[in-house]
Amino acid sequence: MKSNLLSGIQPSGRLHLGNYLGALKNFVELQNSGQYNCHFFVADLHSLTEDFEPAQKKQQILDLIASFLAAGLDPKKSLIFVQSQVPAHSQLAVILNNFTPFGELSRMTQFKDKAEAQKENINVGLFTYPVLMAADVILYDAQFVPVGEDQFQHLELTRTLVRKFNSKFGAIFIEPQPLQTKVTRLMSLTDPEKKMSKSDSAGCLFLDDESETIAGKIEAAVTDSGKEIKFDPELKPGISNLLTIYSGLTGREIPEIEKEFEGKSYVRFKKALAKLITKHFAPFRRKKARLLAKPEKLEKIALRGSKLANKIANEKIKVVKERFGLL
Ligand code: AMP
Repeated sequence: MKSNLLSGIQPSGRLHLGNYLGALKNFVELQNSGQYNCHFFVADLHSLTEDFEPAQKKQQILDLIASFLAAGLDPKKSLIFVQSQVPAHSQLAVILNNFTPFGELSRMTQFKDKAEAQKENINVGLFTYPVLMAADVILYDAQFVPVGEDQFQHLELTRTLVRKFNSKFGAIFIEPQPLQTKVTRLMSLTDPEKKMSKSDSAGCLFLDDESETIAGKIEAAVTDSGKEIKFDPELKPGISNLLTIYSGLTGREIPEIEKEFEGKSYVRFKKALAKLITKHFAPFRRKKARLLAKPEKLEKIALRGSKLANKIANEKIKVVKERFGLL
């Protein structure tokens, strides 16, 4: 039998290269490997933990579904759904809250980072984010969760909760394992010591950036003193990050790329990289635009996936309620 695999992305703006190399590209490869029962969802409830514009939310959700499909996720091969269309996620999160030590949540580095970044809106949802994430994963008996480095700690908490729950109430949930992507942490183009993130748009390459924008951002990317195109994250974090992108998009090993650009200037390397990125995402951009032109179709695809997800998730909730003595 195939193992279950699940992952989600928040619809909170345009997808960037970190999301692509750290998550989406990998989702497509995992789907196409045929080895897993894949579940991919739009984490819209998670996205409410940040300030948001209600008038934009629906478009962001449709945009993400279009990005999933344009990148190669296929509703015939993977279960694609929207988190808020499956109420069991919220239901299980409320139940799990009662088994989650406050101290453990206080230690979550993502909470600390986000609380620092959004001082005016340190809400409880941000604090309990890892509990909802645990619910997302264990509702579907996911054995594998492809995630970037920023989610490892949350997944560890999920594992702890599963062990605790199972030992108290009998085996109900499966302990999930992270599936580490090759690119776990893509760095900002303007500050290679910081993670690439949409909040820093100059340091961030969005998948639907136009070719001129891509060329401009890569040209302006911080490099290091020296001239060599060499992978050395300690001494040359800027160039190493650009090499990571080159390797991530081509699938070629870094030493091979270093060799190709031996003796060439940073400018030459950057030009080649900008061209590569533009070319790589051209079909994605075209396909996404076509999909976005038919929003009703995207909604239909989501609804169909969510319907099936509800069936699976409600079965799990039923078992939990029985074990708890709930009616
Ligand atoms: P999020 O926008 O937080 O829902 O992130 C979606 C996925 O992208 C998660 O699996 C993250 O781990 C991954 N991700 C986000 N930023 C980066 C980055 N800079 N490098 C690698 N992966 C990332």
